[in-house]
Amino acid sequence: MSIYEQQTLKIQNSLSGEKEIFKPITSGFVGMYVCGPTVYSNVHLGNIRTFMSFDIIYRYLLHLGYKVRYVRNITDAGHLTDDDAEDKISTKARLEKVEPMEIVQKYTVDFHNVLKQYNLLPPSIEPTATGHIVEQIEATQKIIDAGLAYVVNGSVYFDVFKYNETKHYGILSKRVIEDAIENTRALDGQSDKKNPQDFALWKKAEPEHIQRWNSPWSEGFPGWHLECTVMSTKYLGDQFDIHGGGMDLKFPHHECEIAQAEACNHKAPVNYWMHTNMLNLNGKKMSKSTGNFLNPSDIYTGNNTILSKAFTPSVTRFSMMQAHYSSVLDLTDDALLASEKGYNRLMDALKTVAQLKTNTSSSFDINSWKQKCYDAMNDDFNTPILIANLFDAVKYINQVKDNNASITAEDLAILTKTLNQFTFDILGLKDDAKTNSNSDTLTGTIELLIQLRAEAKANKNYDLSDKIRAELLALGVQLKDGRAGTSFSLS
Ligand code: AMP
Ligand code: ZN
Repeated sequence: MSIYEQQTLKIQNSLSGEKEIFKPITSGFVGMYVCGPTVYSNVHLGNIRTFMSFDIIYRYLLHLGYKVRYVRNITDAGHLTDDDAEDKISTKARLEKVEPMEIVQKYTVDFHNVLKQYNLLPPSIEPTATGHIVEQIEATQKIIDAGLAYVVNGSVYFDVFKYNETKHYGILSKRVIEDAIENTRALDGQSDKKNPQDFALWKKAEPEHIQRWNSPWSEGFPGWHLECTVMSTKYLGDQFDIHGGGMDLKFPHHECEIAQAEACNHKAPVNYWMHTNMLNLNGKKMSKSTGNFLNPSDIYTGNNTILSKAFTPSVTRFSMMQAHYSSVLDLTDDALLASEKGYNRLMDALKTVAQLKTNTSSSFDINSWKQKCYDAMNDDFNTPILIANLFDAVKYINQVKDNNASITAEDLAILTKTLNQFTFDILGLKDDAKTNSNSDTLTGTIELLIQLRAEAKANKNYDLSDKIRAELLALGVQLKDGRAGTSFSLS
Protein backbone atom coordinates (compact mmCIF):
# COMPACT_ATOMS: atom_id res chain seq x y z
CA MET A 1 0.00 0.00 0.00
CA SER A 2 1.42 3.38 -1.00
CA ILE A 3 1.65 6.13 1.60
CA TYR A 4 -0.71 8.34 -0.44
CA GLU A 5 -3.46 5.79 0.14
CA GLN A 6 -3.12 6.33 3.90
CA GLN A 7 -2.77 10.12 3.89
CA THR A 8 -5.15 12.87 2.79
CA LEU A 9 -3.28 15.64 1.07
CA LYS A 10 -4.92 19.05 0.78
CA ILE A 11 -3.79 21.78 -1.58
CA GLN A 12 -4.71 25.46 -1.59
CA ASN A 13 -6.06 25.89 -5.10
CA SER A 14 -5.71 29.46 -6.39
CA LEU A 15 -8.44 28.74 -8.92
CA SER A 16 -11.17 28.02 -6.36
CA GLY A 17 -9.55 29.95 -3.53
CA GLU A 18 -10.17 26.86 -1.36
CA LYS A 19 -8.06 24.21 0.28
CA GLU A 20 -9.07 21.08 -1.60
CA ILE A 21 -8.41 17.38 -1.18
CA PHE A 22 -5.87 16.42 -3.83
CA LYS A 23 -7.13 13.83 -6.29
CA PRO A 24 -4.91 13.22 -9.31
CA ILE A 25 -6.48 12.61 -12.70
CA THR A 26 -4.87 9.18 -12.91
CA SER A 27 -4.60 7.38 -9.61
CA GLY A 28 -0.99 7.07 -8.49
CA PHE A 29 0.36 9.54 -11.07
CA VAL A 30 0.87 13.30 -10.83
CA GLY A 31 1.59 15.73 -13.65
CA MET A 32 3.10 19.00 -12.43
CA TYR A 33 4.25 22.02 -14.44
CA VAL A 34 6.17 24.96 -12.96
CA CYS A 35 7.14 28.10 -14.88
CA GLY A 36 10.92 28.19 -15.05
CA PRO A 37 13.33 31.10 -15.31
CA THR A 38 13.93 33.49 -18.17
CA VAL A 39 17.62 32.88 -18.73
CA TYR A 40 18.84 36.39 -19.50
CA SER A 41 20.63 37.04 -16.19
CA ASN A 42 21.73 35.24 -13.02
CA VAL A 43 18.91 33.99 -10.84
CA HIS A 44 18.55 35.77 -7.50
CA LEU A 45 17.63 34.27 -4.18
CA GLY A 46 13.96 35.22 -4.65
CA ASN A 47 13.72 33.07 -7.77
CA ILE A 48 15.31 30.25 -5.79
CA ARG A 49 12.63 30.49 -3.10
CA THR A 50 9.95 29.80 -5.68
CA PHE A 51 11.76 26.81 -7.19
CA MET A 52 12.61 25.54 -3.71
CA SER A 53 8.96 25.66 -2.66
CA PHE A 54 8.06 23.46 -5.61
CA ASP A 55 11.03 21.22 -4.86
CA ILE A 56 9.52 20.46 -1.44
CA ILE A 57 6.15 19.80 -3.07
CA TYR A 58 7.77 17.50 -5.63
CA ARG A 59 9.74 15.71 -2.92
CA TYR A 60 6.66 15.18 -0.76
CA LEU A 61 4.61 13.83 -3.67
CA LEU A 62 7.45 11.41 -4.44
CA HIS A 63 7.65 10.44 -0.77
CA LEU A 64 3.93 9.70 -0.75
CA GLY A 65 4.61 7.18 -3.50
CA TYR A 66 3.22 9.06 -6.52
CA LYS A 67 4.89 8.64 -9.87
CA VAL A 68 5.44 12.31 -10.68
CA ARG A 69 6.20 13.85 -14.05
CA TYR A 70 7.57 17.24 -13.15
CA VAL A 71 8.02 19.65 -16.06
CA ARG A 72 9.81 22.96 -15.52
CA ASN A 73 10.59 25.02 -18.58
CA ILE A 74 13.43 27.31 -19.54
CA THR A 75 12.25 30.55 -21.17
CA ASP A 76 14.90 31.20 -23.80
CA ALA A 77 12.80 33.36 -26.15
CA GLY A 78 9.71 35.50 -26.21
CA HIS A 79 9.72 37.10 -22.74
CA LEU A 80 9.27 40.77 -23.51
CA THR A 81 10.94 43.59 -21.62
CA ASP A 82 8.73 45.56 -19.24
CA ASP A 83 8.00 48.20 -21.86
CA ASP A 84 6.83 45.40 -24.17
CA ALA A 85 9.25 46.63 -26.81
CA GLU A 86 11.76 43.82 -27.04
CA ASP A 87 12.60 40.31 -25.98
CA LYS A 88 14.77 40.18 -22.81
CA ILE A 89 17.23 37.67 -24.24
CA SER A 90 17.62 39.40 -27.60
CA THR A 91 18.19 42.75 -25.86
CA LYS A 92 20.92 41.30 -23.67
CA ALA A 93 22.55 39.55 -26.66
CA ARG A 94 22.54 42.79 -28.66
CA LEU A 95 24.02 44.77 -25.76
CA GLU A 96 26.73 42.19 -25.08
CA LYS A 97 27.34 41.58 -28.80
CA VAL A 98 26.98 37.82 -28.50
CA GLU A 99 24.60 35.19 -29.90
CA PRO A 100 21.29 34.97 -27.99
CA MET A 101 22.02 31.28 -27.45
CA GLU A 102 25.27 32.22 -25.69
CA ILE A 103 23.22 34.23 -23.22
CA VAL A 104 20.82 31.32 -22.84
CA GLN A 105 23.64 28.81 -22.31
CA LYS A 106 25.49 30.96 -19.79
CA TYR A 107 22.49 31.59 -17.56
CA THR A 108 21.03 28.11 -17.91
CA VAL A 109 24.31 26.68 -16.63
CA ASP A 110 24.29 29.23 -13.78
CA PHE A 111 20.69 28.30 -12.91
CA HIS A 112 21.51 24.59 -12.79
CA ASN A 113 24.62 25.16 -10.67
CA VAL A 114 22.70 27.24 -8.16
CA LEU A 115 19.87 24.73 -7.86
CA LYS A 116 22.41 22.00 -7.26
CA GLN A 117 24.04 24.03 -4.49
CA TYR A 118 20.64 24.37 -2.82
CA ASN A 119 19.95 20.65 -3.28
CA LEU A 120 16.94 20.93 -5.58
CA LEU A 121 16.03 17.80 -7.51
CA PRO A 122 16.07 18.20 -11.30
CA PRO A 123 12.66 18.05 -12.99
CA SER A 124 11.67 15.07 -15.15
CA ILE A 125 11.57 17.24 -18.28
CA GLU A 126 13.08 20.70 -18.78
CA PRO A 127 11.79 21.89 -22.17
CA THR A 128 12.80 25.15 -23.82
CA ALA A 129 10.69 27.69 -25.69
CA THR A 130 13.05 27.65 -28.69
CA GLY A 131 12.72 23.87 -28.85
CA HIS A 132 8.95 24.23 -29.30
CA ILE A 133 8.51 26.92 -31.96
CA VAL A 134 6.67 24.54 -34.29
CA GLU A 135 4.15 23.66 -31.58
CA GLN A 136 3.66 27.36 -30.79
CA ILE A 137 2.97 28.17 -34.44
CA GLU A 138 0.47 25.28 -34.58
CA ALA A 139 -1.29 26.48 -31.42
CA THR A 140 -1.47 30.04 -32.77
CA GLN A 141 -3.07 28.74 -35.98
CA LYS A 142 -5.59 26.72 -33.95
CA ILE A 143 -6.58 29.81 -31.96
CA ILE A 144 -6.96 31.85 -35.17
CA ASP A 145 -9.09 29.04 -36.65
CA ALA A 146 -11.26 29.07 -33.53
CA GLY A 147 -11.91 32.78 -34.21
CA LEU A 148 -10.18 33.84 -31.02
CA ALA A 149 -7.09 35.54 -32.46
CA TYR A 150 -6.46 38.08 -35.20
CA VAL A 151 -3.49 39.08 -37.36
CA VAL A 152 -2.28 42.68 -37.62
CA ASN A 153 0.91 43.69 -39.50
CA GLY A 154 2.42 40.21 -39.15
CA SER A 155 1.68 39.89 -35.42
CA VAL A 156 -1.06 37.70 -33.95
CA TYR A 157 -3.07 38.77 -30.91
CA PHE A 158 -5.44 36.84 -28.69
CA ASP A 159 -8.90 38.43 -28.77
CA VAL A 160 -9.68 38.65 -25.07
CA PHE A 161 -13.16 40.20 -25.46
CA LYS A 162 -14.21 37.53 -27.99
CA TYR A 163 -13.00 34.81 -25.64
CA ASN A 164 -14.80 36.43 -22.74
CA GLU A 165 -18.13 36.14 -24.56
CA THR A 166 -18.24 32.43 -23.75
CA LYS A 167 -15.54 32.00 -21.11
CA HIS A 168 -14.30 34.02 -18.16
CA TYR A 169 -11.02 35.84 -18.76
CA GLY A 170 -10.00 36.61 -15.18
CA ILE A 171 -11.15 33.31 -13.71
CA LEU A 172 -7.82 32.78 -11.92
CA SER A 173 -6.82 36.30 -10.97
CA LYS A 174 -10.44 37.17 -10.09
CA ARG A 175 -10.38 40.25 -12.28
CA VAL A 176 -13.16 41.66 -14.32
CA ILE A 177 -12.23 42.14 -17.93
CA GLU A 178 -12.06 45.94 -17.68
CA ASP A 179 -9.19 45.61 -15.20
CA ALA A 180 -7.45 42.77 -16.99
CA ILE A 181 -5.01 44.90 -18.91
CA GLU A 182 -1.89 43.00 -19.74
CA ASN A 183 0.62 45.77 -19.80
CA THR A 184 0.44 49.17 -18.26
CA ARG A 185 2.35 51.14 -20.84
CA ALA A 186 0.80 51.64 -24.26
CA LEU A 187 3.76 51.56 -26.59
CA ASP A 188 4.54 50.91 -30.24
CA GLY A 189 3.44 47.37 -31.05
CA GLN A 190 0.47 47.67 -28.68
CA SER A 191 -1.31 50.09 -30.93
CA ASP A 192 -1.87 47.12 -33.27
CA LYS A 193 -4.11 45.54 -30.66
CA LYS A 194 -7.87 45.89 -30.84
CA ASN A 195 -7.98 46.22 -27.05
CA PRO A 196 -5.28 46.75 -24.41
CA GLN A 197 -6.37 43.45 -22.81
CA ASP A 198 -5.28 41.48 -25.89
CA PHE A 199 -1.91 39.74 -25.74
CA ALA A 200 0.55 38.57 -28.37
CA LEU A 201 0.66 34.97 -29.55
CA TRP A 202 3.17 35.83 -32.27
CA LYS A 203 5.18 39.02 -32.72
CA LYS A 204 6.67 40.25 -35.95
CA ALA A 205 10.37 40.88 -35.33
CA GLU A 206 11.66 44.41 -35.77
CA PRO A 207 14.88 44.60 -37.86
CA GLU A 208 17.11 44.80 -34.76
CA HIS A 209 15.48 41.77 -33.12
CA ILE A 210 17.95 38.87 -33.35
CA GLN A 211 15.87 35.82 -32.41
CA ARG A 212 13.41 35.18 -35.25
CA TRP A 213 11.67 32.30 -36.96
CA ASN A 214 9.53 31.89 -40.07
CA SER A 215 5.81 31.61 -39.61
CA PRO A 216 2.70 31.98 -41.79
CA TRP A 217 2.32 35.57 -40.50
CA SER A 218 5.83 37.04 -40.43
CA GLU A 219 9.39 36.38 -39.47
CA GLY A 220 9.09 36.79 -35.75
CA PHE A 221 8.93 35.09 -32.39
CA PRO A 222 6.28 33.59 -30.11
CA GLY A 223 4.67 35.43 -27.19
CA TRP A 224 5.88 34.35 -23.77
CA HIS A 225 2.55 33.02 -22.46
CA LEU A 226 2.15 30.57 -25.32
CA GLU A 227 5.26 28.50 -24.61
CA CYS A 228 3.93 27.35 -21.24
CA THR A 229 0.56 26.32 -22.68
CA VAL A 230 2.25 24.36 -25.44
CA MET A 231 4.91 22.68 -23.32
CA SER A 232 2.70 21.84 -20.35
CA THR A 233 -0.01 20.22 -22.47
CA LYS A 234 2.49 18.48 -24.77
CA TYR A 235 4.12 16.62 -21.90
CA LEU A 236 1.28 16.37 -19.39
CA GLY A 237 -1.86 16.20 -21.54
CA ASP A 238 -4.68 18.65 -22.31
CA GLN A 239 -5.67 18.45 -18.68
CA PHE A 240 -3.17 17.90 -15.90
CA ASP A 241 -2.95 18.02 -12.11
CA ILE A 242 -0.78 20.87 -10.81
CA HIS A 243 0.51 24.09 -12.32
CA GLY A 244 2.70 26.36 -10.23
CA GLY A 245 4.68 29.55 -10.25
CA GLY A 246 5.32 32.69 -8.25
CA MET A 247 2.31 34.86 -7.32
CA ASP A 248 3.49 37.55 -9.70
CA LEU A 249 2.79 35.17 -12.60
CA LYS A 250 -0.89 34.69 -11.78
CA PHE A 251 -1.75 37.65 -13.97
CA PRO A 252 -1.34 37.98 -16.84
CA HIS A 253 0.84 34.92 -17.51
CA HIS A 254 -1.30 32.16 -16.02
CA GLU A 255 -4.57 33.82 -16.93
CA CYS A 256 -3.37 33.88 -20.55
CA GLU A 257 -2.29 30.25 -20.31
CA ILE A 258 -5.81 29.22 -19.28
CA ALA A 259 -7.39 31.20 -22.13
CA GLN A 260 -4.98 29.80 -24.74
CA ALA A 261 -5.43 26.20 -23.60
CA GLU A 262 -9.23 26.56 -23.51
CA ALA A 263 -9.12 28.06 -27.01
CA CYS A 264 -6.95 25.19 -28.33
CA ASN A 265 -8.34 22.19 -26.46
CA HIS A 266 -11.75 23.32 -25.17
CA LYS A 267 -10.83 22.22 -21.66
CA ALA A 268 -9.62 23.85 -18.46
CA PRO A 269 -5.96 22.81 -18.56
CA VAL A 270 -5.18 22.60 -14.84
CA ASN A 271 -6.95 21.14 -11.82
CA TYR A 272 -4.84 22.72 -9.07
CA TRP A 273 -3.15 26.10 -9.54
CA MET A 274 -0.52 26.81 -6.90
CA HIS A 275 1.18 30.14 -6.26
CA THR A 276 4.15 30.81 -4.04
CA ASN A 277 4.80 34.07 -2.30
CA MET A 278 7.71 36.44 -2.64
CA LEU A 279 11.01 36.61 -0.85
CA ASN A 280 11.74 40.01 0.63
CA LEU A 281 15.11 41.35 1.60
CA ASN A 282 15.00 43.63 4.63
CA GLY A 283 11.30 44.31 4.10
CA LYS A 284 11.23 44.87 0.31
CA LYS A 285 10.60 42.43 -2.54
CA MET A 286 13.80 40.90 -3.82
CA SER A 287 14.17 41.98 -7.39
CA LYS A 288 16.93 42.58 -9.88
CA SER A 289 15.39 45.74 -11.27
CA THR A 290 15.34 47.57 -7.92
CA GLY A 291 18.81 46.35 -6.94
CA ASN A 292 17.38 44.86 -3.72
CA PHE A 293 18.65 41.34 -4.17
CA LEU A 294 21.22 38.82 -3.12
CA ASN A 295 22.85 36.45 -5.54
CA PRO A 296 22.49 32.88 -4.31
CA SER A 297 26.26 32.48 -4.03
CA ASP A 298 26.72 35.74 -2.09
CA ILE A 299 25.07 34.17 0.89
CA TYR A 300 27.41 31.20 1.20
CA THR A 301 30.63 32.99 0.25
CA GLY A 302 29.70 35.80 2.60
CA ASN A 303 30.61 38.18 -0.22
CA ASN A 304 27.96 40.83 0.47
CA THR A 305 27.42 43.91 2.58
CA ILE A 306 23.99 42.90 3.88
CA LEU A 307 24.65 39.88 6.11
CA SER A 308 27.05 39.62 9.05
CA LYS A 309 28.48 36.29 7.95
CA ALA A 310 28.27 33.47 5.40
CA PHE A 311 25.42 30.95 5.67
CA THR A 312 25.50 27.51 4.08
CA PRO A 313 22.90 26.60 1.44
CA SER A 314 21.24 24.18 3.91
CA VAL A 315 20.88 26.89 6.57
CA THR A 316 19.37 29.20 3.94
CA ARG A 317 17.10 26.42 2.76
CA PHE A 318 16.06 25.68 6.34
CA SER A 319 15.37 29.37 6.89
CA MET A 320 13.12 29.46 3.82
CA MET A 321 11.22 26.36 5.05
CA GLN A 322 10.37 28.15 8.27
CA ALA A 323 7.74 30.16 6.42
CA HIS A 324 4.83 28.62 4.54
CA TYR A 325 5.26 28.90 0.77
CA SER A 326 2.20 31.14 0.52
CA SER A 327 3.49 33.72 3.02
CA VAL A 328 5.86 36.54 2.30
CA LEU A 329 9.26 35.70 3.74
CA ASP A 330 11.61 38.42 4.86
CA LEU A 331 15.26 37.43 4.70
CA THR A 332 17.24 39.15 7.44
CA ASP A 333 20.51 38.55 9.20
CA ASP A 334 18.67 37.85 12.48
CA ALA A 335 16.38 35.29 10.84
CA LEU A 336 19.34 33.50 9.28
CA LEU A 337 21.30 33.49 12.54
CA ALA A 338 18.29 31.98 14.34
CA SER A 339 17.82 29.42 11.57
CA GLU A 340 21.46 28.43 11.79
CA LYS A 341 21.06 27.68 15.49
CA GLY A 342 17.91 25.64 14.85
CA TYR A 343 19.46 23.80 11.96
CA ASN A 344 22.52 22.87 14.04
CA ARG A 345 20.27 21.59 16.86
CA LEU A 346 18.41 19.43 14.37
CA MET A 347 21.62 18.04 12.88
CA ASP A 348 23.02 17.32 16.36
CA ALA A 349 19.83 15.49 17.30
CA LEU A 350 20.10 13.36 14.16
CA LYS A 351 23.54 12.28 15.34
CA THR A 352 22.42 11.76 18.95
CA VAL A 353 19.46 9.60 17.94
CA ALA A 354 21.85 6.96 16.59
CA GLN A 355 23.44 6.63 20.03
CA LEU A 356 20.35 6.51 22.24
CA LYS A 357 19.91 3.67 24.72
CA THR A 358 16.56 1.91 24.56
CA ASN A 359 14.21 0.88 27.32
CA THR A 360 11.11 -1.26 27.87
CA SER A 361 8.71 1.65 27.50
CA SER A 362 8.49 4.99 25.71
CA SER A 363 7.51 8.24 27.35
CA PHE A 364 6.50 9.83 24.03
CA ASP A 365 3.81 8.74 21.59
CA ILE A 366 5.95 8.18 18.49
CA ASN A 367 3.15 7.09 16.18
CA SER A 368 1.01 10.12 16.86
CA TRP A 369 4.10 12.34 16.44
CA LYS A 370 4.80 10.69 13.10
CA GLN A 371 1.22 11.29 11.97
CA LYS A 372 1.51 14.93 13.06
CA CYS A 373 4.49 15.30 10.71
CA TYR A 374 2.36 13.93 7.87
CA ASP A 375 -0.61 16.09 8.93
CA ALA A 376 1.57 19.19 8.63
CA MET A 377 2.66 18.34 5.10
CA ASN A 378 -0.83 17.11 4.17
CA ASP A 379 -2.13 20.54 5.15
CA ASP A 380 -0.96 22.29 1.98
CA PHE A 381 2.72 21.47 2.58
CA ASN A 382 2.96 23.31 5.88
CA THR A 383 6.71 23.20 6.46
CA PRO A 384 6.80 25.57 9.50
CA ILE A 385 4.42 23.26 11.39
CA LEU A 386 6.44 20.26 10.25
CA ILE A 387 9.61 21.89 11.60
CA ALA A 388 7.89 22.61 14.94
CA ASN A 389 7.05 18.88 15.12
CA LEU A 390 10.61 17.93 14.28
CA PHE A 391 11.73 20.08 17.21
CA ASP A 392 9.34 18.21 19.53
CA ALA A 393 11.30 15.12 18.55
CA VAL A 394 14.62 16.93 19.07
CA LYS A 395 13.53 17.85 22.60
CA TYR A 396 12.54 14.26 23.32
CA ILE A 397 15.83 12.90 21.91
CA ASN A 398 17.79 15.19 24.21
CA GLN A 399 15.66 14.11 27.20
CA VAL A 400 16.34 10.44 26.43
CA LYS A 401 20.04 11.20 26.09
CA ASP A 402 20.00 12.88 29.52
CA ASN A 403 18.02 9.95 31.00
CA ASN A 404 14.99 12.15 31.59
CA ALA A 405 12.83 10.12 29.20
CA SER A 406 12.75 6.61 27.74
CA ILE A 407 12.22 4.99 24.35
CA THR A 408 11.71 1.40 23.16
CA ALA A 409 13.83 -0.11 20.40
CA GLU A 410 10.79 -0.30 18.13
CA ASP A 411 9.92 3.38 18.67
CA LEU A 412 13.54 4.40 18.22
CA ALA A 413 13.55 2.73 14.78
CA ILE A 414 10.38 4.63 13.78
CA LEU A 415 11.72 7.91 15.20
CA THR A 416 15.06 7.57 13.40
CA LYS A 417 13.52 6.65 10.07
CA THR A 418 10.83 9.35 10.19
CA LEU A 419 13.18 12.09 11.32
CA ASN A 420 15.65 11.23 8.56
CA GLN A 421 12.94 11.05 5.90
CA PHE A 422 11.37 14.39 6.76
CA THR A 423 14.70 16.18 7.23
CA PHE A 424 16.66 14.88 4.28
CA ASP A 425 14.22 13.41 1.72
CA ILE A 426 11.34 15.86 2.11
CA LEU A 427 12.83 19.12 3.37
CA GLY A 428 15.90 18.36 1.23
CA LEU A 429 18.38 19.47 3.88
CA LYS A 430 21.95 18.28 3.85
CA ASP A 431 24.27 17.93 6.81
CA ASP A 432 26.60 20.68 5.77
CA ALA A 433 27.26 21.92 9.27
CA LYS A 434 30.72 20.47 8.76
CA THR A 435 31.10 22.50 5.59
CA ASN A 436 30.16 25.48 7.71
CA SER A 437 32.90 24.89 10.23
CA ASN A 438 35.20 24.08 7.29
CA SER A 439 34.34 27.43 5.83
CA ASP A 440 35.27 29.16 9.11
CA THR A 441 38.57 27.27 9.06
CA LEU A 442 39.13 28.26 5.43
CA THR A 443 38.46 31.91 6.17
CA GLY A 444 40.87 31.81 9.11
CA THR A 445 43.56 30.15 6.99
CA ILE A 446 43.24 32.68 4.17
CA GLU A 447 43.37 35.55 6.63
CA LEU A 448 46.54 34.08 8.10
CA LEU A 449 48.09 33.89 4.61
CA ILE A 450 47.06 37.50 3.94
CA GLN A 451 48.84 38.51 7.13
CA LEU A 452 51.99 36.52 6.19
CA ARG A 453 51.94 38.15 2.75
CA ALA A 454 51.72 41.60 4.33
CA GLU A 455 54.70 40.73 6.54
CA ALA A 456 56.66 39.44 3.52
CA LYS A 457 55.91 42.69 1.69
CA ALA A 458 56.97 44.75 4.69
CA ASN A 459 60.27 42.83 4.68
CA LYS A 460 60.60 43.50 0.92
CA ASN A 461 60.37 39.75 0.28
CA TYR A 462 58.34 40.28 -2.90
CA ASP A 463 59.07 36.79 -4.25
CA LEU A 464 57.23 35.32 -1.27
CA SER A 465 54.36 37.84 -1.28
CA ASP A 466 53.79 37.29 -5.03
CA LYS A 467 53.97 33.54 -4.57
CA ILE A 468 51.26 33.64 -1.86
CA ARG A 469 49.00 35.74 -4.09
CA ALA A 470 49.57 33.56 -7.20
CA GLU A 471 49.11 30.24 -5.44
CA LEU A 472 45.95 31.41 -3.71
CA LEU A 473 44.62 32.56 -7.08
CA ALA A 474 45.38 29.13 -8.57
CA LEU A 475 43.23 27.69 -5.76
CA GLY A 476 40.40 30.08 -6.64
CA VAL A 477 41.07 32.68 -3.93
CA GLN A 478 41.45 36.18 -5.31
CA LEU A 479 43.11 38.85 -3.16
CA LYS A 480 42.16 42.48 -3.54
CA ASP A 481 44.41 45.16 -2.08
CA GLY A 482 42.57 48.26 -0.96
CA ARG A 483 43.11 51.23 1.33
CA ALA A 484 41.56 49.38 4.24
CA GLY A 485 43.80 46.35 3.72
CA THR A 486 43.51 43.15 1.72
CA SER A 487 40.21 41.38 1.21
CA PHE A 488 39.52 38.16 -0.67
CA SER A 489 36.83 36.50 -2.74
CA LEU A 490 36.32 32.87 -3.69
CA SER A 491 35.55 31.93 -7.28
P1 AMP B 1 11.46 35.09 -14.02
O1 AMP B 1 12.79 34.52 -14.45
O2 AMP B 1 11.49 36.56 -13.79
O3 AMP B 1 10.34 34.66 -14.94
O4 AMP B 1 11.14 34.49 -12.57
C1 AMP B 1 11.23 33.11 -12.28
C2 AMP B 1 10.38 32.78 -11.08
O5 AMP B 1 10.85 33.44 -9.90
C3 AMP B 1 8.91 33.18 -11.24
O6 AMP B 1 8.08 32.10 -10.83
C4 AMP B 1 8.75 34.38 -10.31
O7 AMP B 1 7.45 34.43 -9.76
C5 AMP B 1 9.75 34.04 -9.22
N1 AMP B 1 10.21 35.22 -8.46
C6 AMP B 1 10.69 36.41 -8.92
N2 AMP B 1 11.01 37.25 -7.90
C7 AMP B 1 10.74 36.58 -6.75
C8 AMP B 1 10.87 36.88 -5.33
N3 AMP B 1 11.35 38.04 -4.88
N4 AMP B 1 10.48 35.93 -4.46
C9 AMP B 1 10.01 34.73 -4.88
N5 AMP B 1 9.87 34.38 -6.18
C10 AMP B 1 10.23 35.28 -7.11
ZN1 ZN C 1 4.92 29.95 -17.62
